[in-house]
Amino acid sequence: MTRMPYKIYLSEEEIPKKWYNLQADLGDRLTPFIHPATGKPCTKGDLTPIFCEGVVDQELNRTDQYIEIPEGIQSYYQMYRPSPLIRAYELEKKLGTPAKIYYKFEGMNTSGSHKLNSAAAQVYYAKEQGITKVTTETGAGQWGTALAMACAHYGIDLQVFMVRTSFEQKPYRKAVMETYGANVIPSPSDTTQVGRKILIDHPGTGGSLGCAISEALEVALNTENCRYVLGSVLNHVLLHQSIIGMETKAAMDQYGIEPDIMIGCAGGGSNLGGFIAPFMGERLQGKNAIRFIAVEPASCPTLTRGKFTLDFGDTGRMTPLIKMYTLGNGFIPSPTHSGGLRYHGMNPILSELRHGGELEARSYEQSEVFEAAVYFAQVEGILPAPESAHAIKAAIDEAILAREEGQEKTIAFALSGTGYFDLSAYESYQRGEMIDQETTVEVLEEGFQTIPTIE
Ligand SMILES: *Cc1c(COP(=O)(O)O)cnc(C)c1O
Repeated sequence: MTRMPYKIYLSEEEIPKKWYNLQADLGDRLTPFIHPATGKPCTKGDLTPIFCEGVVDQELNRTDQYIEIPEGIQSYYQMYRPSPLIRAYELEKKLGTPAKIYYKFEGMNTSGSHKLNSAAAQVYYAKEQGITKVTTETGAGQWGTALAMACAHYGIDLQVFMVRTSFEQKPYRKAVMETYGANVIPSPSDTTQVGRKILIDHPGTGGSLGCAISEALEVALNTENCRYVLGSVLNHVLLHQSIIGMETKAAMDQYGIEPDIMIGCAGGGSNLGGFIAPFMGERLQGKNAIRFIAVEPASCPTLTRGKFTLDFGDTGRMTPLIKMYTLGNGFIPSPTHSGGLRYHGMNPILSELRHGGELEARSYEQSEVFEAAVYFAQVEGILPAPESAHAIKAAIDEAILAREEGQEKTIAFALSGTGYFDLSAYESYQRGEMIDQETTVEVLEEGFQTIPTIE
């Protein structure tokens, strides 16, 4: 066993060739998607008009623990992977903590985040099936950018519905997507029925991911040879993101590192779920006792204050019903919120793990998250995405606790992306203009009222 260097990079040959499918460990604990019209579990045939066949098979796969990564995806991964596993020596010193802190940095590709891991996979399967166009939504723009990159590579058309507030705040995101050949429309838009309805019901709205999903779904369903792709929430996305956890595990095994705590920020749950997948699998098999922590914004507190129930994945109520933690498909976070992670629901696997007590959850206000982001940038050098900074804040808190308790813990967190595309949020923090707005019980109650009642 060698001393852990600042960074561990696996060699190209060591990049794992399999994804880890956590569904295989959970089996019957997971509730299938429910068809809203029949109240029965969705079949493959219900899902294939919306999604590509390859990913539907993965979405429904509850038996195979490992799934082979096709060569056409491996070769794409090889262009920008492995991502480094970094030992935060400087942060440890600065905090004066006996804890060992590691982070896996996914921000080193042009799209700036982990999302490319699933974008490449989903577009590959679309191409394989002979699909010629895909549609999607994007919030802050990371997913749209990742998908635009993948579509350019595999040769598929892309239409992106971008949440209007982001469209206006982040013009450079749009420019990047267009550079890769995507067509970008602000949502809600007047190009779809559901968009026009939302515009009438909520004039002047800045939009939400839920609205944008509905618009993208409508176009996919009404266009020939077109499918919808989603950047988070669903189980196949979490599967693709397990490349993060598989690499982390391979790197840790080389150096005999055994984490005590693993942390990730959670919007729809894909980077956290992918990061912890093989480790959580082992925990479910009784092979470790790692604590897993999901971190979310106080203004979109899905896992900490949401309900574990069946809900739609989108505001337009076009998706199947998903058993998950949810704030209600009509929930829209406060417009003062700028830290990302604003989706109303949560990946079903992570929801079940939270329900079962294997996954802890906590939330932070955005000002303390940005404070941690700036601290981390100054100490470790990397400017983190605001989303990722939620995980940083929790890791710092755990490291301080370890110092107070005099415990030599090993903490690992996912640094899901770079903050280069979020400079307006950093600017507002620096100017002292960032406000923490309390999410009241009344606001939550309004969201809960949009959860469908199932007989
Ligand atoms: C999209 C995004 C997230 C949130 O999505 P998850 O599916 O919860 O991972 C987190 N961090 C970054 C950098 C993102 O771009």
